[in-house]
Amino acid sequence: MTVCKNCKSFFAASEDADKEVKSECIREMVDHKGKFWLSQPVDGNSSAKDCKKFTPKLNVQ
Ligand code: SF4
Repeated sequence: MTVCKNCKSFFAASEDADKEVKSECIREMVDHKGKFWLSQPVDGNSSAKDCKKFTPKLNVQ
């Protein structure tokens, strides 16, 4: 199953972070004024099956 943590827009909360700090989905957007970023809390295990913005993470080794 495709899940958010396999998406390049997924940024996991640090293990040291307060429990109130959630992992986030952060997406770069561009409009006539320039670049900006949208963020929203997301669970890494959420299904990404219906997300049209899903882009697989690249495996860099
Ligand atoms: S909500 Fe969509 S864009 Fe955001 S991390 Fe999940 S699959 Fe990626």
